[in-house]
Amino acid sequence: MRSYSLIAPAKINLYLEIIGDRSDGYHELAMILQSIDLADQIDIHPASTETIRVYCNHPQVPTDNSNLAYRAAALMATKFADAFKNLGGIDITIKKRIPVAAGLAGGSTNAAAVLVGIDLLWNLGLTFAELEELGATLGSDVPFCISGGTAIATGRGEQLSPLPSLDHIHIVLAKYRSLEVSTPWAYNTYRQEFGSTYIRDTANLADRANAVHSGEIVKAIVNKNAAEIAQKLHNDLERIVLPAYPQVLHLRELFATQPGVLGTMMSGSGPSVFAIVESAEQAEIVKLKIREAIPDQDLELFVTRTITHGIKIAP
Ligand code: ATP
Repeated sequence: MRSYSLIAPAKINLYLEIIGDRSDGYHELAMILQSIDLADQIDIHPASTETIRVYCNHPQVPTDNSNLAYRAAALMATKFADAFKNLGGIDITIKKRIPVAAGLAGGSTNAAAVLVGIDLLWNLGLTFAELEELGATLGSDVPFCISGGTAIATGRGEQLSPLPSLDHIHIVLAKYRSLEVSTPWAYNTYRQEFGSTYIRDTANLADRANAVHSGEIVKAIVNKNAAEIAQKLHNDLERIVLPAYPQVLHLRELFATQPGVLGTMMSGSGPSVFAIVESAEQAEIVKLKIREAIPDQDLELFVTRTITHGIKIAP
């Protein structure tokens, strides 16, 4: 049996709106998710014994059964118990480049890669739709990470409608290595502060979420107009995270004043902040300017771009 190397891209949120409370305890969301070319590499190797093992080069990433990649493999081993028994175990090696706990779906994209990789390894022939259904049981961002590109995500974030692909929009991304924002904290605090404006579990909830389809940012995406997209970026969680984390607010303000920056926003529940920039050359200049302003090496900076795919086999 051969091994597989997969590219697992990160995502950013071009749009994140919290619509209200669902009866299952989750929030109803309206999001626009976008894959970027900042990616981890996931190697899937067959193992001789009936075990699942995870290796990772990043000290903050657990390698036990709390790792989302491990949980994805365990799910496949349970669902396809005969294959696991007959074809043996799985060794998963994660080469991490995506900042951890950053609002970039790092764990989710690793889980997505493991689902795709085991499907290939065991020759299961699952469709993307079947893999997405399995992925939704692991986390709301996993289904998007499988097919990637540009998509509207509603419900908990797992109901996807693809949008026309947005290739080669230039992005500069920044994250303080030592700064972690808990996603449950961000959502719970939002509920405490703004819950009075929520729609409670009614038919109206889904209608409001679906209104994103006819929103202005979607029109800008259809027109592939980077400047218009950058003007329409939105993230409700900024209202919680920016006041609580002055470093993130400062980054956001610094990006906004750089020449060539068309728009800037926090991704997901943060603390990553990204800027849409006019050109690849400008992106390198913006990165240099941010580095000059914040020489602290705790700040990670990346020049990246939008891409049109999710998990794919490494060349
Ligand atoms: P999301 O955008 O989906 O909310 P995130 O980018 O904020 O995710 P992750 O990088 O997925 O956050 O990490 C969240 C936590 O999950 C980390 O603190 C880490 O301990 C744990 N974790 C479990 N599995 C992984 C994995 N494969 N990669 C990264 N972190 C993982």
